[in-house]
Amino acid sequence: MSRAYRVGIIGSGFGGLAVAAELLRHGHTDLRLWERGDAVGGVWRDNTYPGAACDVPSPLYSFSFAKETGWSKRYAGQPEILAYLQRVADDLGITERVRLRTSVVAATWDEETRTWRVDLEGPDGPGTDEVDVLVSAVGQLSEPTVPAIPGAESFAGTAFHSARWDHDADLSGRVAVVGCGASAIQFVPHLADSARRVTVFQRSANYILPKPDGTFRDWYRRFIPAERPAFYEVAEQFSKGLDDRSPVNKINKVVAEAHLRLRVRDPELRARLTPDYPIGCKRILFSNTFYPAVARPHVDVVTDAIAAVEPTGVRTADGRLHEADTLVWGTGFAAQDFLSTVTVTGAGGRVLAEQWADGARAYQGIHVPGFPNLFVCYGPNTNLGGSSIIVMLEAQAHAMRLALDEMRRRGAERVEVTPAAEQAWDDEVQGELAHSAWAHCDSWYRHPVSGRITSNWPGGTKPFVARTRELDTAAFAWDGAPA
Ligand code: NAP
Repeated sequence: MSRAYRVGIIGSGFGGLAVAAELLRHGHTDLRLWERGDAVGGVWRDNTYPGAACDVPSPLYSFSFAKETGWSKRYAGQPEILAYLQRVADDLGITERVRLRTSVVAATWDEETRTWRVDLEGPDGPGTDEVDVLVSAVGQLSEPTVPAIPGAESFAGTAFHSARWDHDADLSGRVAVVGCGASAIQFVPHLADSARRVTVFQRSANYILPKPDGTFRDWYRRFIPAERPAFYEVAEQFSKGLDDRSPVNKINKVVAEAHLRLRVRDPELRARLTPDYPIGCKRILFSNTFYPAVARPHVDVVTDAIAAVEPTGVRTADGRLHEADTLVWGTGFAAQDFLSTVTVTGAGGRVLAEQWADGARAYQGIHVPGFPNLFVCYGPNTNLGGSSIIVMLEAQAHAMRLALDEMRRRGAERVEVTPAAEQAWDDEVQGELAHSAWAHCDSWYRHPVSGRITSNWPGGTKPFVARTRELDTAAFAWDGAPA
């Protein structure tokens, strides 16, 4: 009788569910998930701001094993995506394995028992658990950040981060928005509809492409899954275009510039909305509503640097005070602090955060030398600048399952990537990334100190899927011995 491994998954967003589904499908059923929130869903549970939607078409932004014909429109909104995730979790028997309101605060490898001890903070206080294999699926965009702007705490009105939207806040007065990224361009048009004045503080302008959105009619619904391969191929080209050697970005730039010219007639505003960095370096955004919103007379785009937040508003470096009743931080996430909410201690007492001090790195984004039986989902260099992250998550889930299958086949208690295999992988990925659009400016894709691009995978998803399809057993030590 082959051995059953106890697997624990931290997080129940798209990543955690992808791994759970893959393991269950292949007979690894001793599975538990710890979820700090009060429902499954990850970022799609947390980001409830008005207008929250995916900028990847839903026929592609969904699991390959749970194709959906119910989407109301091509780019589904957050409530629909969350409902889809929760339905999939229910249907596959995952929900019943999730321990809600339970945060993993620490995980410690025990060499003697070859297990992970997991420290939890749950509804009944602290607790511990023990598993043979630990999967982190905490995501890259789950920890909201508010920048250290002087006086940030002093604001007298209501202030909140976009990922913790205050649905009781009065948004009819003067609203200030700090940040102008993927989230802000979705909620600013809604604020413009409700507020008397909206002031958007934009540090960097974005390249924004039109979004080919549309409502799905009833008769068309059964064809929704058929859109998946077409969007996949387009997204693949888009991702490959985020490379200096590709002409695709040049086309994207022409389209983005034409989009701006067409939608914003005021040359002065247009100048403020024109990016000053190469296209693709920060995430290319999609919206049909942002430009019309900021062109409205009661909406301002302020590009002067913020000097301080004061009780009554935001003061810019030119000395002006921009008064506001409500302040929304659209300032993104601590994406570089991979796994920062969990103190992970591996073999020999090494601490993951210390090992990753110059930027996270991992073989296939999954396996870290010195951390046996730890699999990281949506880990370093697995994010995309285009296309559906779910393709990447499923590929990683597949790779993890292969490693677990191999452990079972060998009856192994311990699997650990070799330092040489991880180094070779990292050299290759970083070599490719040197040609990428992301090498040309600062963004959340790069480590703030070392400058390493630690979030993104270079190019399309196909090479990643191909590289993770089979397990290279020689890349690992099994029970401490090389393969
Ligand atoms: P973001 O893209 O990181 O944007 C943060 C914004 O805050 C940027 O405009 C940034 O300016 C600004 N900012 C940060 N610190 C600042 C400071 N000290 N002073 C002034 N401005 C500051 O965050 P996000 O919009 O929440 O999106 C994060 C990621 O989530 C996206 O890139 C995307 O991957 C994902 N997302 C996806 C969707 C979707 O439709 N699929 C929707 C929302 C979010 P700089 O650009 O100058 O740094």
